[in-house]
Amino acid sequence: MTFAAVVLTLYPEMFPGHLGHSLAGKALARGDWSLDTLQIRDFATDRHRTVDDTPAGGGAGMVLKPDVLARAIDAADAARPGLPRLLMSPRGRPLTQARVRDLAEGAGALIVCGRFEGVDQRVIDRRGLEEVSIGDYILSGGEPAALTLLDAVVRLLPGVMGNAASGVQESFEGGLLEHPHYTRPQLFEGEPIPEVLTSGNHGAIRAWQQAEALSLTRARRPDLLGEGRAPSAAGQPVTK
Ligand code: SAH
Repeated sequence: MTFAAVVLTLYPEMFPGHLGHSLAGKALARGDWSLDTLQIRDFATDRHRTVDDTPAGGGAGMVLKPDVLARAIDAADAARPGLPRLLMSPRGRPLTQARVRDLAEGAGALIVCGRFEGVDQRVIDRRGLEEVSIGDYILSGGEPAALTLLDAVVRLLPGVMGNAASGVQESFEGGLLEHPHYTRPQLFEGEPIPEVLTSGNHGAIRAWQQAEALSLTRARRPDLLGEGRAPSAAGQPVTK
């Protein structure tokens, strides 16, 4: 079964974007996953094809109209029933590798891209949209967030990545950040590759990698080890 992505957006021309290139693009061309976009504006019914209106209670910006968006969601759902319905939103639960893996194991996702100040709350509630954030910052629209989520999902789909193992042993998968990598030349600007990595002793290499992963995680993301500090305060470059 191929993973079906259905994206509701005011800017369908932003898709597949970077996902039309490289491994994701080849997988798309092969049919390992599919991507359909729906233009939300096509579901407006007035002469001007209005999709937004001023916020109730006043304030800056505009809000996506619930009636128009609900019709778009219903049409998408009728075409591909039962997909999880996501709304890209800075108020959402932060996206994690665990959620990405979960989505990759499913049939696909219906993804709503917000614009303006956001989306009328009633359509979120009544259509059961799960709000998903890609981080604690504000984008101008949900499209790059949807592309980011899909990028993370698609690379996990069977057959997409050449080396299946590299999909398993990397940052977050074991609850830790990944150890550092090195490759030739043996000497770069006077700095050698750590000796253990060229020793041929696989046990010692594995132990070194695990120790490095642990110390890196402790320094940068102690929250992953359940050691306090919120992720927003961490993730700063550290000297190693
Ligand atoms: N006024 C809103 C932000 C609107 S930004 C607020 O303060 O919460 C416009 C749209 O961009 C949002 O509807 C959402 O779809 C998308 N967006 C912005 N930042 C995002 C983020 N960090 N993660 C996911 N989507 C985001």
